[in-house]
Amino acid sequence: MADRAGDLLRQVLEDWQRAGVTALPPGEPIDLPPGFGAASAPTTPSQTDAPMPRSNSGRKSGPTSEPNSGSSAAGSPKRPSPAAVATAASGDAATTLAVLADQVAGCTLCEELAATRTQTVFGAGSPTASILFLGEAPGADEDATGEPFVGRAGKLLNDIIAACGWKREELYICNVLRCRPPGNRNPTTQEAANCRGWLDGQIAAVKPDWIVCWGSVAAKELLQTKKAIGKLRRQLFDHAYEGGSAQVLCTYHPSYLLRNPPAKKDVWEDLKFLMAEMDGR
Ligand code: URA
Repeated sequence: MADRAGDLLRQVLEDWQRAGVTALPPGEPIDLPPGFGAASAPTTPSQTDAPMPRSNSGRKSGPTSEPNSGSSAAGSPKRPSPAAVATAASGDAATTLAVLADQVAGCTLCEELAATRTQTVFGAGSPTASILFLGEAPGADEDATGEPFVGRAGKLLNDIIAACGWKREELYICNVLRCRPPGNRNPTTQEAANCRGWLDGQIAAVKPDWIVCWGSVAAKELLQTKKAIGKLRRQLFDHAYEGGSAQVLCTYHPSYLLRNPPAKKDVWEDLKFLMAEMDGR
């Protein structure tokens, strides 16, 4: 019994850590949004040194993508949205992410993925990041560690982040899927739809001003478009989420760059375009 309680506590603390919580002040009660059961939990430290611009005013509107479908179907208690999204919109970001991460760890909506994963890969980084990176799905390294983008593509992504003058821990990084597709196959439409509520919940919790979609799976899923990634580059798309909106840049996936290094210059162009837009706000 005590062992089981200890395991549960450890699990929750690991989830909190994965969601970006690094320290807890002593026992301050907080209002957890309805639907999450617990009435109080420790608060998380406020982010005092937000290094990225977080401007919610004076945004230019970029070209708008095909209509966003929003979150996936409601009804079944196993489905993450819209409850997760509504909660994300109202709660403290780190707390909400920690609660969502805990729920994701038990998700079995995609039977095959739930049966074959080592663990879920929720997301990492600052709960109040102004830039959110969206990738495709965990690979073998991410499945083994529980962290997004830690394999070869992740190392290249780290270099790209450094080249932009950013720090990885200042961003928030997650994927369309939270489980590794066996053999690193592409996510199916159904898997992406099943996971969409979690993604919407994470976005609504972090409330980014900017989202970078890495690769066509991320771009097509977030923007609900069929357009090729090459046609989506070098422009910004509006993405509305519960409680705010972000400007979205789409560019090539780091895995593609590993296979096709000349495309690195295209990604660099895209990111310079994004940084110029950010500077202009
Ligand atoms: N590729 C992705 O799209 N996401 C990861 O987390 C790792 C590799």
